Amino acid sequence: MQTLAFWILFLAGVGAFAAQVATRVRLIAAAPNTFSTTDLPFRINRFLVDVVLQRQTIRERPAAGLMHAFVFWGFVAFAGYTSVEFLRGLGVVDLTHTSWFEAYRLALVPFASAVLLGIVYLLIRRAFVRPIALGPKVSLESVVIALFIATLMTTFLLTFRLEEDTTAERVNWWTHMLVILAFMALIPASKHFHLVLSPITVFLKSPELGNLPNLDFEKEQVGLETVKDLGSKMRLDAFTCVECGRCQVNCPAWGAGKELNPKAIILQTQDALLAGTIDTKLGEVYSEKVLWQCTTCGACENQCPVGIEHLPILIGSRRGLVSNGEAPEYLGAMYLNLERRSNIWGLGYDQRTKFVQAAQLEIFDPVKHDVLVWLGCAGSFDADFQKSLRSLFSILRAKQVKFGVLAKERCNGDPAKRTGNEYMFQELANGNIEDLKTAGVKKIVTSCPHCVKTIGADYAKFGYRVEITHSSVFVEELLRSEPSLAAARDTVTFHDPCYLGRYAGKTDEPRALLTRFGAEIREPVRNRDNPYCCGAGGGLLFADKEEEPGSRISDVRFKQLQDTGAGTVVTACPFCSIMLKGAQASAGAETQFVDLMTFVDGRLQPRA
Ligand code: SF4
Ligand code: SF4
Repeated sequence: MQTLAFWILFLAGVGAFAAQVATRVRLIAAAPNTFSTTDLPFRINRFLVDVVLQRQTIRERPAAGLMHAFVFWGFVAFAGYTSVEFLRGLGVVDLTHTSWFEAYRLALVPFASAVLLGIVYLLIRRAFVRPIALGPKVSLESVVIALFIATLMTTFLLTFRLEEDTTAERVNWWTHMLVILAFMALIPASKHFHLVLSPITVFLKSPELGNLPNLDFEKEQVGLETVKDLGSKMRLDAFTCVECGRCQVNCPAWGAGKELNPKAIILQTQDALLAGTIDTKLGEVYSEKVLWQCTTCGACENQCPVGIEHLPILIGSRRGLVSNGEAPEYLGAMYLNLERRSNIWGLGYDQRTKFVQAAQLEIFDPVKHDVLVWLGCAGSFDADFQKSLRSLFSILRAKQVKFGVLAKERCNGDPAKRTGNEYMFQELANGNIEDLKTAGVKKIVTSCPHCVKTIGADYAKFGYRVEITHSSVFVEELLRSEPSLAAARDTVTFHDPCYLGRYAGKTDEPRALLTRFGAEIREPVRNRDNPYCCGAGGGLLFADKEEEPGSRISDVRFKQLQDTGAGTVVTACPFCSIMLKGAQASAGAETQFVDLMTFVDGRLQPRA
């Protein structure tokens, strides 16, 4: 009788689970396929580190992350126990009296204790501490799930105290099994579905941060326009979100009081998919203005513990808007500059030629030169940044590095790509690739982190591979044998550019240069591989300051840098420099700005 009752409840629980999972699987299977398994060794390594060892979960929130890891490891450890108890309850086979099962059961005791500790900690945090990332309301669902898990562990531990075949033992067993069945029925529609999906999502996450595959215009639609266009990985992401809010609290746009919230983007995607309104425009699902507030800093993707990628959704939706002529006006002007003059400011190339001549630069020749210095739009036209490039040239010359530049450069295409103008990006990229190939370039050094990402990673998607290094990394290696200055002479703070610290993971090299040349570094909040953005990326360099909601991202960052108490801010990206100097001017502050190359050159020269 009990077996029959258990069969009925088992089928109800498993049926409810399967029906909800099937809905989600159908939605994912109906999508354009965007799954990829390239670079398998990297994916396997990340799976081991981030899923098995829970590194990403623990890294940013060590206490809560460790408690979560206890619960996760406990779940994995209990899988065999639960299966054996199900087989017993269904009358299939009773393995509970075997010696190996007894040993296994004993080995589960420390796991059960750790899960109990973890779940009580997480329950208190969710219900009473309420960190801002978790939202203003206590989630009833989270409380119920936490109580379920606590009940499972308690009933397991009680099995060591209760005598077999007593009423108390049977009640305890039924409670344990019914909670598991209720859990199964509940989780697919809850954020706890990440227990099932996150190992898959982490494995399928692109090895490249902010990966935006190049569009094939002959085969593909030029962007995401409606819910129907969302790809399979985007849909999987939407069902995996655990609503932890790490993306939200690390987003500079959200931090500066704008409407963009990357967590909301993912949850809105989930709602839209489940609502089944596949023809709804994405501009309505997310609101168009929100889509233009993203700087593409990559903090959301980088912090997400379950492998969700926000940028393909955000930039994919921008592509859809651009292809329909719905980009904001300020971008229209920038696109015109790129189209007519191949640079973001629309300036005549004679100005670059004048700089090349004045700085006595040679045109690259693969026989004569070891390396090409890529100037970029800022290096070609921004007088301020040209001072920094002169410092780079001076260091290279002091160290007898033979370098040249291209006779002509186009913008690398980053502002077009990250604002969704894929057609323009490909025009610029293909022109540059052809020129670089013709010139026989094998190695590039640049002071622009955006050029590193675009030429290094996006051009590689056209099959063009070239070694490209940021000047901070190149120069640090070049000057590694230079003796350190005996005593620190300057107190500075260093602003890690997102495309250098987060995207390229280069955080030690600029610091090594600064300390080697006499700086004491005061770190701002948000540094190294999780910096707070300057606000320039994703085309926002061109946005109209007056029309921005909330604060300016650059103002927030400048304040964080000021709060270090250091009178000098060192930068290593022309666009960070432009944004932060703008914020300094608005604040009327006296902070000094110096580019990293200028800082190094200024201290190298007196020794020469
Ligand atoms: S890329 Fe940066 S600005 Fe854009 S949503 Fe993510 S965290 Fe926010
Ligand atoms: S997208 Fe990732 S980081 Fe953001 S709330 Fe969801 S799980 Fe957390």
